[in-house]
Amino acid sequence: MKTHIQHPIFGIIAEAAHELNIATYAIGGFVRDIILNRPCKDIDIVAVGSGIDLANLVAKKIGKKTKVTVFKNFGTAMLNYQDYEVEFVGARKESYNRNSRKPIVEDGTLKDDQNRRDFTINALTISLNNHNLGELLDPFKGLKDIENKILRTPLDPDITYSDDPLRMMRAIRFATQLNFTIDSESLKSIKNNKERIKIVSKERVIDELNKIILSPTPSVGFKLLFDTGLLKIIFPELDNLKGIEIINGKSHKDNFYHTIEVLDNISLNTDNLWLRWAAIMHDIAKPATKRFEQDHGWTFHGHEDKGARMIPKIFKELKLPLDAKMKYVQKLVRLHLRPIALVKDVSDSAVRRLLFDAGDDIDDLMTLCNADITSKNPEKVKRYLINFKLVRQKLKKIEEKDQLRNWQPPISGELIMETFDLRPCREIGIIKDAIREAILDGDLENKYDSAYQFMVKKGKELGLSVREK
Ligand code: ATP
Repeated sequence: MKTHIQHPIFGIIAEAAHELNIATYAIGGFVRDIILNRPCKDIDIVAVGSGIDLANLVAKKIGKKTKVTVFKNFGTAMLNYQDYEVEFVGARKESYNRNSRKPIVEDGTLKDDQNRRDFTINALTISLNNHNLGELLDPFKGLKDIENKILRTPLDPDITYSDDPLRMMRAIRFATQLNFTIDSESLKSIKNNKERIKIVSKERVIDELNKIILSPTPSVGFKLLFDTGLLKIIFPELDNLKGIEIINGKSHKDNFYHTIEVLDNISLNTDNLWLRWAAIMHDIAKPATKRFEQDHGWTFHGHEDKGARMIPKIFKELKLPLDAKMKYVQKLVRLHLRPIALVKDVSDSAVRRLLFDAGDDIDDLMTLCNADITSKNPEKVKRYLINFKLVRQKLKKIEEKDQLRNWQPPISGELIMETFDLRPCREIGIIKDAIREAILDGDLENKYDSAYQFMVKKGKELGLSVREK
């Protein structure tokens, strides 16, 4: 491994460790990522002794007023060197009590420290000591597990997962990010311990879930979450999409599998976490709106509106932000059927209304709609894609002509008040709405002069008179 620790930071750490006579190692994700050839800028250093003392001496050697951030309570210290973030911690032994994932910590050996790691691939260690500098220490055959793409716990998985149930989410997250398989014993253990996820804070859970969502093929993680029973506990509304019902020989599609397929599809085209969340949420209200109608079969009328309305509660429960990002997800969910409707009605006014409602998010909406095509029938897929292309062309044409994206009314409320000498009143809203509707219907040009004339006409119809100048 010597070639991997050529960077000067390792020489400085090894020198400091030697001076303090502290056995020192690089450990964890950094070593794993070297072997996997993944870029990694976080280095974890474990010292059999004081990690804080080691960090201080390393900083002194680097010079240039290098700042050490010490977390006394955790016995850790952190510094930045070039583009690396280096964290120092003393080797520790952990023991757990049943109601908390926070361990009781005491000083330990390297072996103790490796035992407390979650997966064999995360327990890989590189020596930074003079006598075996650069040697890979691999007590649990993590290297072989990397070759075989297997996630295995160093100790009995029932203990590892029960001690810190966040590790169940981490297992699924790594399986999704790295395209690894979770060892069958581990998987069994996750199923057995699933209820223990409830002792983990929701913030930690959503952190892992977001990493799953940002992986190249997120469906891998969602299938595992479903199969292990974790999904039902952490995100019941999504779990509830699973299943098919048949009446009179007519079935509907399994909306869970459909949803995660849409998520995979959209992930090919965007790294925007919130657009990926919109894909997850787009059919969330299907169970709540499902009906069987004799004439039409299965219907989900209004699932787009109901879904948008369900989002605040779900976001709150999951500890997702309740700000503009949530509003964006709601908007996309609410509008996700509109471009499909445009395929049947490409009238200018329908296109204008969509541009008006979607604003700057129109391109993201079209990305969502494209991802929503999951038919197994290639002819159908081809037809949909061609139709969407036409819709896009039409959107572009109308946008260029009418400039409706982020539309601002050509006539303001103040101008209406001034023109008719009004105080704030209902009529102002009526006139403003009439102007907007006329523009969207294509009956009125989106320009000040024509809108002014229209306002005067509309005001007169309402019995108002223009103020003398
Ligand atoms: P990534 O950097 O991709 O988020 P990572 O596991 O490499 O993942 P950290 O979460 O910072 O990064 O963890 C660093 C190391 O600490 C891990 O490689 C693992 O050895 C150990 N570790 C982290 N969390 C746990 C845990 N919950 N249980 C046991 N060991 C853990």
